[in-house]
Amino acid sequence: MSDKRVVVVTGASRGIGRAVAVALSGPGAEVIVNYRSGREAAEETAAAVSSVGGAPHLMPFSVADAEAVKEAFKEILKVHGRVDVLVNNAGVARDNLLALMKGAEWDEVLDTNLKSIFLCSQAVVKAMMKQRYGRIVNITSIVGVMGNPGQVNYCAAKAGIIGLTRSLARELISRNITVNAVAPGFIETDMTRDMPDKVREGLLSQIPAGRYGLPEDVAAAVAYLVSEGAGYVTGQVLHVNGGMFMG
Ligand code: NAP
Repeated sequence: MSDKRVVVVTGASRGIGRAVAVALSGPGAEVIVNYRSGREAAEETAAAVSSVGGAPHLMPFSVADAEAVKEAFKEILKVHGRVDVLVNNAGVARDNLLALMKGAEWDEVLDTNLKSIFLCSQAVVKAMMKQRYGRIVNITSIVGVMGNPGQVNYCAAKAGIIGLTRSLARELISRNITVNAVAPGFIETDMTRDMPDKVREGLLSQIPAGRYGLPEDVAAAVAYLVSEGAGYVTGQVLHVNGGMFMG
């Protein structure tokens, strides 16, 4: 059994997940780098984790696949004996106006962004309860609070994450397990890179900070929530958006 801090980050091959994996690395961290299919990118994350002293472990599986999640966490717990930190970050967007949205677009987004958090949290929660220690951070979004045309599926999933976070926080705080959410605004990643220039400029004009966010901005918020000093903070939604929305 590992006596190091065991950290699981879903969707850690790119973007925010990679920055979170690096921010939570450091000497004494075993970092499980989950991804779905982007092996090369995941290897880059692993190299970045190693460069700051963490021990990376690549684990490809789909967070939307109940059986795959069960198997993966069984393996993680067999090898490491514990999970201290779970960051539910994996997510996808499949944008469309509601009038045109296909059932498959709704299902994929709800399964990957929301059901995944039910599955991954359920897979670690018993171990965390036994340990009497755990930190769970769920990545929601500014649009889960504000709404956004063309994203009813994504916004429903992200709003659902907030309800799940608050309920689970109430279930688990007596066992010294905190559950919080981080709500990024507009962050520079593959997810937002292909937006038309006009849309990007329109968004920028709504950000008082005068710049888009970086994955590292979000990672710093996650690092705070999993820190020892945040042990009395639970059920919260920490907005990281340059002042675009204040909730
Ligand atoms: P990204 O750059 O598109 O990266 C998404 C990550 O999720 C990749 O590592 C991807 O792995 C993984 N992933 C996708 N589907 C998966 C699945 N079924 N199983 C396991 N891994 C899966 O996205 P991002 O911008 O960093 O977003 C990360 C999180 O922040 C998401 O939950 C997103 O909704 C949220 N968020 C982002 C923004 C933003 O402005 N970027 C704003 C608010 C919230 P593969 O490459 O292997 O598929």
